[in-house]
Amino acid sequence: MIRLSKSVIGQDEIKAITRVLQDEFLGMGVEVQKFEEELSTFFGRETICVNSGTAALQLALQATDIKRGDEVLVQSLTFLATFQAISAIGAIPIPCEVYENTFTIDLEDAKSKITTKTKAIIPVHYASNVGNLDDIYEFANKYNLRIIEDAAHAFGTKYKNRRIGSFGDIACFSFDGIKNITSGEGGGVVSNDAAVIQKIKNLRLLGVENDSDNRYQNKRSWDFDVVEQGWRFHMSNIMAAIGRSQLKKFDLFKAKRQLLAKHYVERLGKIDGLKIFDFNYDEVVPHIFVVRILRGDRDDIREKLQNEGIQTGIHYKPNHLLSFYKTNYTLPLTKKYYSEILTLPLHPDLSLENVDDVCDTLLSKL
Ligand SMILES: *Cc1c(COP(=O)(O)O)cnc(C)c1O
Repeated sequence: MIRLSKSVIGQDEIKAITRVLQDEFLGMGVEVQKFEEELSTFFGRETICVNSGTAALQLALQATDIKRGDEVLVQSLTFLATFQAISAIGAIPIPCEVYENTFTIDLEDAKSKITTKTKAIIPVHYASNVGNLDDIYEFANKYNLRIIEDAAHAFGTKYKNRRIGSFGDIACFSFDGIKNITSGEGGGVVSNDAAVIQKIKNLRLLGVENDSDNRYQNKRSWDFDVVEQGWRFHMSNIMAAIGRSQLKKFDLFKAKRQLLAKHYVERLGKIDGLKIFDFNYDEVVPHIFVVRILRGDRDDIREKLQNEGIQTGIHYKPNHLLSFYKTNYTLPLTKKYYSEILTLPLHPDLSLENVDDVCDTLLSKL
């Protein structure tokens, strides 16, 4: 079986976890502080760690004062987590179309859905590509919206030679098991807005003011104040230990993911009935590799691949089709893309031969 995705774990992670276990301090402590320092160096900006990418998005929204009933523009074609993070704080996700050649948010469609309640836009860096991020920032500035980048796919990706997260308003990353780096589960928020960072530091620890700094000294706050609803969203030392090992290996993961994606492009770039994205894999560090099957038999092909031992995925079921997120918007383009998309196996333990196997099998079914 060629797996769609998997965690790639070695002796370093095992040693790192063992060290934390032997210290018998498993919760949030020095290890988390060190992971945050290393990430802050990586991005050149302060990074706060939480226990998932979903939590990162939710806290970023809350920290920018998005309130119950406020509206957030977001593409429908994203992982459910993006929508759940918005509704978790009582805000309303407004589902938007995506551009065909990037699957990033369609700004004309987004513009037509702006109301007096619109407070933010969440661009999703689909398949690790950011589209025209300058246009998104220009749009947001024009309409006075906060920008919370869902960069869950885009750890390490660059835009115009700068790392995602190293510039802009707020970027949220995921370190779940199959993302570009993992901390078991986990997430991070990067921003240069000191007020947002400070708020998230408190919100992840039940809103207890300044508890983070005590925890970093392996202490707790026994006398404290709370001024708003907080959450148990902090990261543990065990998670941070895995994350620190993975961060050290990121250059290897990155090179491998880019190499495999380039090989897919070489093999599948000019095939009738198949469409691939024209991403720059010198800048993009791909989390997933998505193709479009244009002849209407995606499900058929997917089943045939499965029968020959090749796992594939569908990223994603559009959120506007879910009962919980129903609106009057129908999004015909997104619905069409949903019927065409197929995600092929991609993870650092795959070989070029594996990619050839996937391509040969796929091409034989078209
Ligand atoms: C993975 C992912 C998230 C959420 O991250 P978790 O760490 O799994 O909670 C959010 N958005 C997108 C697009 C993702 O792929």
